[in-house]
Amino acid sequence: MVYSKPAIGTSQCTINESIHYVGVGLHSGHKVSMSLHPATPNSGIFFVRKDVQSDHAFIRASWRNVVDTRLCTVLGNEHGVTISTVEHLLAALRGCGVDNLMIEINSDEVPILDGSCAPLVKLIKKAGVVPQRVPRYGIWIERPVEVKQGERYSILTPSAVPRITVDIEFANAAIGSQCLTIDLIDDVFETEIAPARTFGFASELEQLREQGLALGGSMRNAVLVDDDGVVNPEGLRFSDEFARHKILDCIGDLALADAPIFGHLYSHKPGHRLNNALLRELFAHQDAWTRLSFDEINRRMARAESDSDSQLKTVVSMNR
Ligand SMILES: [Zn+2]
Repeated sequence: MVYSKPAIGTSQCTINESIHYVGVGLHSGHKVSMSLHPATPNSGIFFVRKDVQSDHAFIRASWRNVVDTRLCTVLGNEHGVTISTVEHLLAALRGCGVDNLMIEINSDEVPILDGSCAPLVKLIKKAGVVPQRVPRYGIWIERPVEVKQGERYSILTPSAVPRITVDIEFANAAIGSQCLTIDLIDDVFETEIAPARTFGFASELEQLREQGLALGGSMRNAVLVDDDGVVNPEGLRFSDEFARHKILDCIGDLALADAPIFGHLYSHKPGHRLNNALLRELFAHQDAWTRLSFDEINRRMARAESDSDSQLKTVVSMNR
């Protein structure tokens, strides 16, 4: 959902050359090798597990294939083969405008890298993002869609500018209450969101490890918080890094929609389960959205911009 004003690239994109990297799974602690390869137009984003038999290895990155959301977003196929912690990689791909990609991986968890999208964005930009001369489509929000889970809720509303607001509240004083709105245009994703790291609580770490989780977690790939504040000696990358990372997670989870979403997401206490529920609610209501070519989206964005300019002029003239 990251686009440049006034015109957004209207062709689907893939990467120019393959990318290879090695990292550690946050939960499994396993060393993982990954390769990202260019893919043909209309193929979307898909994973291929190299460590399982080849006819069971294919997993499409789709909201329909989300099988678990307790600690991260997990995708699975009809053979029970899964791939977990996909959200940061998907956010980086959406943020860089990659529509079609094959991801080969030799394990069941995407490497965590430094806990943010920044290293991935750097690799993708180095490989290059290339248009494929096939029209790109987006999902234009036509009316509000809402989901609620206890005190958490998310609303998608029509907006000519792709926008995300998150509102978080944590008892821990180092985080507290943070509310942030970002317009996903120009290089906002790369500069303001991609560097924000995932975070965890020292009090929960031991419990997770006893359950065989967070085995690869360390201060090299997460912000660790305890009762006294941020434990990492280097401190935070942004004073509101926590809210920014929640926006990053929302972008990654919403990248599981079949095309980029054009609307305003407002999320109170967002989480992976809530994000997936919102997509399920959206796609259950055909009247809530329209699939449009990016040519048409550009026209609508330009029209909305000139409308807001003329509204501004009206306000200025009324004030004279
Ligand atoms: Zn995350």
